[in-house]
Amino acid sequence: MTVTASKLIWLALGGIWIILRWNPERRARKTPIRSSSRDSWEICLLTISLTGLGIIPVVYIAIHFPRFADYAFFPVQGYFGIVTYVAALWLFYRTHRDLKRNWSLSLELREHHMLVTTGSYAYVRHPMYASFWLMAFAQLLMLPNFIVGLAGLLGFGSLFFGRVRREEEMMIGAFGDEYRAYMRRTSRLVPWIY
Ligand code: SAH
Repeated sequence: MTVTASKLIWLALGGIWIILRWNPERRARKTPIRSSSRDSWEICLLTISLTGLGIIPVVYIAIHFPRFADYAFFPVQGYFGIVTYVAALWLFYRTHRDLKRNWSLSLELREHHMLVTTGSYAYVRHPMYASFWLMAFAQLLMLPNFIVGLAGLLGFGSLFFGRVRREEEMMIGAFGDEYRAYMRRTSRLVPWIY
């Protein structure tokens, strides 16, 4: 596999991600919000994440900037990257199917919000964030540039570590002991590890 092929496949897989997000996004707009914790901190984290996972790699592929940070590409890293990205897309699709109308881009509770603890949520509390971590690793593998490769991990890492505690506190506020019990029997991201 060549670098160009790896970049084009990365773009194509990104296109599939956008298609998978389309319907949940449309449905979310129709489901009223009961309470929102979307503040300037949240907007800042979302912007950093979008920059690292989307804007920086797209600029890199479009105009090859920042070229000075390129390193030699080994086809095997491209293949591992594709497998990782496909796994991320599968998990991403599953989490939207499990969360249904309870999904929000930000920290929000919807009308008739239900606590989901089945499907991908039976094992970890943040499977959708796990899929974003996988996407960030795929970016590191598929785009052979130190800055662009790390941008996804740093960008999404900021969102994850800046949000996850607040999200769990919000869920405890809404679901109390039910969420506390759910926390006791699940991990955050990787079953039995974290
Ligand atoms: N952190 C989860 C969900 C991300 S979407 C994941 O990574 O899979 C963020 C929104 O999902 C939050 O605003 C919250 O309202 C909702 N949410 C998070 N966990 C949930 C759960 N177990 N059941 C229902 N809604 C949940």
